[in-house]
Formats: sequence, structure tokens, C-alpha cells
Amino acid sequence: MIIIMKPQATEEQIGSLCQDLSRQGMQVQRNAGVDCTVLGVLGDVAKLDPHDFLIQPGVERVMPVSEPFKKANRKFHPTDSVIDCGGVKVGGRKLALFAGPCSVENVEQITDTALKVRASGANILRGGAYKPRTSPYAFQGLKLEGLALLEQAKAITGMPICTEIMSPKLVEEFDRRVDVIQVGARNMQNFDLLTELGQTRKPILLKRGLSATISEWLMSAGYILAGNPNVILCERGIRTFETYTRNTLDLSAVQAVKRLSHLPVIVDPSHATGLNWMVERMSLAAIAAGADGLIIEVHNNPPKALCDGAQSLTPDQYAQLVGKISALAPIVERTL
Ligand code: PEP
Ligand code: MN
Repeated sequence: MIIIMKPQATEEQIGSLCQDLSRQGMQVQRNAGVDCTVLGVLGDVAKLDPHDFLIQPGVERVMPVSEPFKKANRKFHPTDSVIDCGGVKVGGRKLALFAGPCSVENVEQITDTALKVRASGANILRGGAYKPRTSPYAFQGLKLEGLALLEQAKAITGMPICTEIMSPKLVEEFDRRVDVIQVGARNMQNFDLLTELGQTRKPILLKRGLSATISEWLMSAGYILAGNPNVILCERGIRTFETYTRNTLDLSAVQAVKRLSHLPVIVDPSHATGLNWMVERMSLAAIAAGADGLIIEVHNNPPKALCDGAQSLTPDQYAQLVGKISALAPIVERTL
């Protein structure tokens, strides 16, 4: 971090700021220029908030020179992280294919959908038991009963299961019963939840918040990474001025995250677009953009779905999509 002092800053102001920084464990290099003094601050600057220095007497400007996220930063972990999700590796050459309904509805729906997506090549079953719904009147999920149905589907198909957590109170329960715990977009900055998940070793699928910058997303990952190295990121579209699609799929974020971070990143074209007919092309685009996998909503009867039917693929549409991914994969040095 660089702190530029005002030309009229007094020696006392500069000295007191340097002392304050040293007390916080920083090394300070003082450079006296013709017009002003410039302080180079070295050390664990991630714990400093640049805004705090702007109100110090004599300070003109503060310029961060390193990223505010640390644990997720590729600089300190140059090789790609590969996360073992109940036997399925996410982050290597092989693409991870999460698929399943938005919400778990009944035993027939979840097992039939699971068997069909598995037959097409999906390797992790998704399904919401606890649903974060914008409307309090909408279906909220089967909760613990939904978890039991997912376990049943896992027993039948052998697929690891991924489901969303909403409360820190349920971390222990999910840790015991689920293979991948999803943190939804609405909870990306639920820091109590993230901290609690950092106490486990369970793979966590951290979705990007509706209006989160890449840097905020990677800082949220840091809360989990404080104790748990198993984090997978998921780009699921961000809120923009465009209303034609449910969200705006930010595929450049995939490339940005791959460059900035060692964590695997997958893409959710279902929530990004909200439109089932866009899912195939956006999935192929995501793989071409370097995603480590996809999470796609598939329902065995979309018109009857209790949640997100309009963006859900039928099992046949999913089979067709996986066929296209398998043709594309070798071009981007991936396998299925
Ligand atoms: C979901 O995956 O069903 C979901 C609610 O996703 P998001 O948090 O991305 O909206
Ligand atoms: Mn959904």
C-alpha cells in the first residue's frame, strides 16, 4: 500500500502515522520527494482498510498495490486447487457436471431425474432442500425431508450430493449428510455462515452474490478458506440493467478468477439466464471460457416443477447438451 502525504503535511503528522503503522506490524519506507512525502507500507496489508488512512491528518491519497484477498490469491498458491467432492474431483482436466432439479420435491422426482442425468454423464447430483425464495409465499423446500430424499437418491445412484445451506445452525447436520454444501448467491456475504463452514473440511460451492464484485467474492471465499481449503466458486450471473434474462452471465469473470485465484470455478447457466432455451449455448460458452464445470437445473417434468421450471432442462435436453460438451471438451484441453 502506498500513502501519499499532502505537500503541507507536518513532520509530526508523518511521524505519528509511521508509528501507528509500525504498531500494526507494518514496515514503512519513507520517501521524501520534492513536493510531498510518499510512504511505502509493507507487511500483511490485507488487514488494513485503505479508507481508514484517508481521514488521518496530512494524508492526500492511499493506493492499494496488492489485492485485498489473500487465501484465494494465486500469488500465494500458484497451482490450481483440485477439490475432492465425495470421490469426484473438481478443478482438474476433467469437467465437473453438477445436475438436478432446483428443489427436491418427492422421491420419484429426485430419483428419476438423478438416474437420467447420471446416464448422460452428470457426476454430482444437485437439489435444493432449503430454498431461499424471494417471495415468502413461494415453496420453501422440503427441508430435512428433502435431505433424506437426496440421501436416498445418492444410495440408488452412487452420485455425491450437493445442496444449499441457509443457516449456520445446520452446518453440523449438512457436514454429516451432504457431499458438497452450496452457499447461495443471497448468502455470499453471510459471514457467520461462511466462518462456520470454515470449521469443516467439507467442499463448499460458493456462488457469486447478485451484485458482488470479483474481489468481494474472493474475500468471501477467504472466510471459509481460513480453516477449510475446499472451496469451489460458481458464477451464476449478476444483476445488471438488462431484464431480458434473469441475470447477466459474466463469463469474463471465469477468466478473471482463473487468473487471480487457484480455486476451481464452475458456471450456472440456469440461474444466469432463467431461460431453458439459452442453457445449452451458455454452457458451451462457459466451457470455452475456461470453466471447470457446470451446475445445471434438470427436472423430469419442468412444466410441473415447484421451483424454476422455466429454466430447467428436460433429461433429454440435458443428454443432448452433454453430447455437445464432449465434442467441445478436447478443443479446450478438457475431458468428460
Ligand atoms: C439454486 O441453485 O437453486 C439457487 C437458489 O441459486 P442462486 O443462489 O445462484 O440464486
Ligand atoms: Mn433454482
